[in-house]
Amino acid sequence: MKKIILTGDRPSGALHLGHYVGSLKNRVQMQNEFQTYIIIANLQAMTDYFDRPEQIRENINSLVKDYIACGIDPNVSTIFVQSKVKALPIMTMYFMNLVSLARVRRNPTVKEELERKEFKNNVNCGFVCYPISQAADILAFDADIVPVGKDQKPMIEQTNEIVDSFNFLYKDDVFKKCKAVFGQTAKLMGIDGKAKASKSLGNAISLSDTEEILKQKVFSMYTDPMHLKVQDPGRVEGNMVFHYLDAFYDEVKTRELREHYEKGGLGDMVLKKLLFDVLQEFLEPIRQKRKNVTQDDIDGILFQGNKRANEKADSVLERMERSMKFD
Ligand code: ATP
Ligand code: MG
Repeated sequence: MKKIILTGDRPSGALHLGHYVGSLKNRVQMQNEFQTYIIIANLQAMTDYFDRPEQIRENINSLVKDYIACGIDPNVSTIFVQSKVKALPIMTMYFMNLVSLARVRRNPTVKEELERKEFKNNVNCGFVCYPISQAADILAFDADIVPVGKDQKPMIEQTNEIVDSFNFLYKDDVFKKCKAVFGQTAKLMGIDGKAKASKSLGNAISLSDTEEILKQKVFSMYTDPMHLKVQDPGRVEGNMVFHYLDAFYDEVKTRELREHYEKGGLGDMVLKKLLFDVLQEFLEPIRQKRKNVTQDDIDGILFQGNKRANEKADSVLERMERSMKFD
């Protein structure tokens, strides 16, 4: 039997280059070898976008377009919407009893997001508990492998702790542990160099950005603020142009450029122009494929995907409830 992959995104905005190198590229490469479920996590997005459901709805369509444009084959991979799989919130409710509040608050990614989103003391229960709902997303599909970016490592650890607690309490072999698989660039930084590229922070290059927007973003990238004259030596650490070249350009050529920049004599504008060309070449075919995806295509893909996802998640919930004598 094929091993199972569960992976996905929050429909909180357009997919960006971080998604591509962090997880999407792996998904495309692995989809034929593994049985792949891709969750569009709208319930999770609602934990911080609860006042904007229309926007989330629109983003769901946009995510499907991005997936298809990047090479996800909906006949091979199951793309589905989280809120359409009713077993998920039920499983989440069971799992919530197995995790302490202190444990969720210790989660470093949640901590960072709490600070960044400025919830202050007013954070809603849904938000702090989203790692538990994410554990349900993973466990409802018996996932062996979860391709994610580095920020999701604590979520996988949390999921495996829930597996241990559940199996210990109710029955030994109901759930199995899963493994995170990180992309080659497991954390692509934003163009400002301050935090990881993120839909919510507006610091990312989207897969659907036009050529013009791409140009503006690349030319406003954070480099070395002390590198004022071309002949001066420049710093490559924290320099976003090199960070993106590392992720998208030839390794040997990037190394040569890095040495040249550190020595002096290589200007930021030349590098930015090169990076723009590299990214333009990468994004143009994605933009073209994206254009051809119709609303009918999207509706059909999600209808089929939701159906397949429900069949699997219902059977896992049944197994789970049997072990708790709730069948
Ligand atoms: P939001 O800001 O709304 O949380 P996001 O940009 O963090 O959006 P998610 O939908 O939360 O995107 O993440 C989807 C997947 O993409 C996860 O596996 C996550 O780890 C990965 N990912 C997100 N941003 C990056 C990044 N900058 N580099 C590598 N992987 C990333
Ligand atoms: Mg995120």
